[in-house]
Amino acid sequence: MDEWKILITDGMEEIGKNILRDVGETHDRTGITADELMTEIGEYHAVIVRSRTKISRQVIQAGKKLKVIGRAGVGVDNIDLEAAQELGITVVNAPTAATIAVAELTMALMMSLARNVAQADESMKAGSWIKKQLTGSELYGKTLGIVGLGRIGSAVAERASAFGMPIVLGYDTAEEKLSALRELGFETVTLEDLYARADYISIHVPLTPVTRGMIDATAIARMKPGVRLVCTARGGIIDEDALLEALDSGHVAGAGLDVFATEPPGPTKLVTHPNVIATPHIGAQTREAQTRASVDIAHEVKSALEGGALRWKVS
Ligand code: NAD
Repeated sequence: MDEWKILITDGMEEIGKNILRDVGETHDRTGITADELMTEIGEYHAVIVRSRTKISRQVIQAGKKLKVIGRAGVGVDNIDLEAAQELGITVVNAPTAATIAVAELTMALMMSLARNVAQADESMKAGSWIKKQLTGSELYGKTLGIVGLGRIGSAVAERASAFGMPIVLGYDTAEEKLSALRELGFETVTLEDLYARADYISIHVPLTPVTRGMIDATAIARMKPGVRLVCTARGGIIDEDALLEALDSGHVAGAGLDVFATEPPGPTKLVTHPNVIATPHIGAQTREAQTRASVDIAHEVKSALEGGALRWKVS
C-alpha cells in the first residue's frame, strides 16, 4: 500500500492526526498562504481544511496527486465542488461535529439580546452601576421563528421550547425536515407567516445562490416591529445594509451575529451598533466540537484514501 501524504492547513487536534498516521504522513501547515498552497499541493494525496483555506479550481488542478479534500466542519462553500467533481476528487466533511456548539451559541445570543448581557458587562467595566436602562425582556412566552430546520435549526427548536418559548415556527424547503419537526410538536409555516408572527428569528440555512441576501429589506419589512434577529449560519444570507437601516429605525430591536459578509468585518457601523451583539464566527469554537470535528474528518479521509465506506461524502 502507498504511504499517503496528508496536508492539514487550518489546524487539527492530535487525536485526529493519530488516526491519519495509520495510513500516512501528516504535514501540519496551519496558516499556509494561498501562494504556498499552490506550490505545495502537488505533493499531497489529501488536504484537510476548515473555513479559512480556499480550495479553488486552480488549487484542485494543481493537486496532481489529490484524491480527497476533507472539511473539518460542515460548510463547504470554500471548496470548488464542481471542479472537484470534474477531476474525480472526493470531498468529505464532518457535518455533525458543531451542531450542539452552534445551537448553544444561538441560545446565548438570544439570551444576551433579551437581557442586555453585553451592554451590562460593558457598563460594569466602565465603572457604572446602571439598572433601569438595562431592563430586558424574557424569552419565556415569546415566539421563535427558525429558518432552516436542519441539524442546528432542530437543536435550537428543542432548546427554545425548554425555555418556555411556546410557539416555535419552522420553515424549510425539505418536506422530510418539516414532518420530523411536526411529529415533535413544532408548528411549521410559510416564510411569510413566520416573518409576521415571530418575536425572534434565527437563521440556520446554508449559504446558496437562493439564500444569499434572502433576509433583505423586503423580508425585514414583513417582520414584526421590534423583532430580534440571530444569525449563526453564514455571512451573506442577511443583507447587512438593510439590517443596519432596520436597526437604526428600530424596526429590528436587536441582532445577534456570529457571521458576516466579509470576515473579519472590522468595526463597521453594524458591528458597533448599540443593539448588535457581534461574535467573531465562534459558533463551532468549543473544545468538544473541535475534537469531534478532528476525529470525524480523520476517519472520513482515512476511509476515502483506503476506498472504504463514507458517511459524509459531499461530492
Ligand atoms: P443542515 O444541512 O443540517 O440544515 C440546513 C437546512 O436548511 C436543511 O434542512 C435544508 O433543507 C434547509 N434549507 C436549504 N435551503 C433552504 C431555503 N432556501 N429555505 C429554507 N430552508 C432551506 O445544516 P446545519 O448543520 O444545520 O448548518 C446550518 C448552517 O449553520 C449552515 O449555514 C452552516 O454553514 C452554519 N454553521 C455555522 C457555524 C458557525 O461557526 N457559526 C458552524 C457550523 C455550521
